[in-house]
Amino acid sequence: MDKNIPYKIYLEEKELPTAWLNMRAVMKNKPAPLLNPGTHKEMTFDELRGVFCDELVKQELNNTDEFITIPQEILDFYKMYRPSPLVRAYFLEKKLGTPAKIYYKFEGNNTSGSHKLNSAIAQAYYAKKQGLKGVTTETGAGQWGTALSMACSYFGLDCKVYMVKCSYEQKPFRREVMRTYGASVTPSPSDTTDVGRQILSEHPGTTGSLGCAISEAVETAVKSEGYRYVLGSVLSQVLLHQSVIGLEAKAAMDKYGISPDIVVGCAGGGSNLGGLIAPFMTDKIRGIKDYQIIAVEPASCPSLTRGKYAYDFCDTGRVCPLAKMYTLGADFIPSANHAGGLRYHGMSSVLSQLFDDGLMEARSAVQTDVFKAAVTFARVEGILPAPESSHAIKVAIDEAMKCKETGEAKTILIGLTGTGYFDLKAYEAYNNGTMTDYIPTDADLQKGFDALPKM
Ligand SMILES: *Cc1c(COP(=O)(O)O)cnc(C)c1O
Repeated sequence: MDKNIPYKIYLEEKELPTAWLNMRAVMKNKPAPLLNPGTHKEMTFDELRGVFCDELVKQELNNTDEFITIPQEILDFYKMYRPSPLVRAYFLEKKLGTPAKIYYKFEGNNTSGSHKLNSAIAQAYYAKKQGLKGVTTETGAGQWGTALSMACSYFGLDCKVYMVKCSYEQKPFRREVMRTYGASVTPSPSDTTDVGRQILSEHPGTTGSLGCAISEAVETAVKSEGYRYVLGSVLSQVLLHQSVIGLEAKAAMDKYGISPDIVVGCAGGGSNLGGLIAPFMTDKIRGIKDYQIIAVEPASCPSLTRGKYAYDFCDTGRVCPLAKMYTLGADFIPSANHAGGLRYHGMSSVLSQLFDDGLMEARSAVQTDVFKAAVTFARVEGILPAPESSHAIKVAIDEAMKCKETGEAKTILIGLTGTGYFDLKAYEAYNNGTMTDYIPTDADLQKGFDALPKM
């Protein structure tokens, strides 16, 4: 082990970031604006504030301020579980026999088990400050719903969660965590909304999708006095809040004179990756250092690697604004055997633009390879990684093995977004050897593209 660099680097309280970093202020090509789904005109502050909290709409539309001060109440809450550790993966390096230096920023050290709490607490704070009664949201596997229910209980807000029906049934434990924090959890599609009733009548027996749960949560927010809708990924405001991950990682590395050559993270809607890369990407855009930045997605839900860069609906019910993003089409649902998370059909507009500008790479991985990497990591590093996070581990291992061939000692930074304790069904399938891979055919994907809105 390197005597000069601690095994785990923790920042001191006085070194923690006090402002979020907004990459959009530095981007030369700004992400395309949200459009009204009816008129195809740019969404205004007044239109958006019917759905989202005022302060969050301001953040969503803010392409100019590079730093946005983190309110003291949020900083105080962050202190409960931040800084998150930056860990040198000495044991993984040794196992791989690589000269690469691997670091991971671990976001699983809180009860929600993922990075999602970083944005949940911010969104709950602004809702409370606006005097709202509560918020509605959707959740797939349950990490976001869990994080939001923790944040709402902290600020005394009501929290209504629409949970994708198959997860509601398959992941009862995550549901109970949410209920423990006082949230009400409804399986989606449900008969509590117009859009839910319509989807149920058109597709009886459906096990639901994120896009459908979003539609239900939005409808409930718009129809309930004193409620707004909040979203745990994809939106630019969520990437903004997640920048604490990258800011802490960079500060911890700077403190010891370390600089990554490669920054790699998993990408579902893009929030953890957008947060992790924020300070590195702004340096890259400014020409300070040409970091290699890699997004990793499932081969079964390949929005960046095989999607189209187009305006699309964010939800199945088509009630949300249109966003320009790399997308597989709002009706796309990954194949039923897909167990590794990262199921959303589109990608953050910010990351989509950075990818389109060639500032970031994207790779896809099949789930059996992802779980193989997860098991390797778990056995040597002592953390049971979330399947989502394991996509990043898989590609980091690939890059470390390349270093072994070339003899280069590159420094690799991994975003390790969370733990996998609620994903043991997926681990079970992998351990039993029954996990399979399905890669959608071009014809499968074409169906999604055919349904893109005609602009
Ligand atoms: C939600 C989640 C992700 C993916 O979401 P992003 O918005 O792409 O970051 C990744 N890892 C974990 C553990 C998650 O809970």
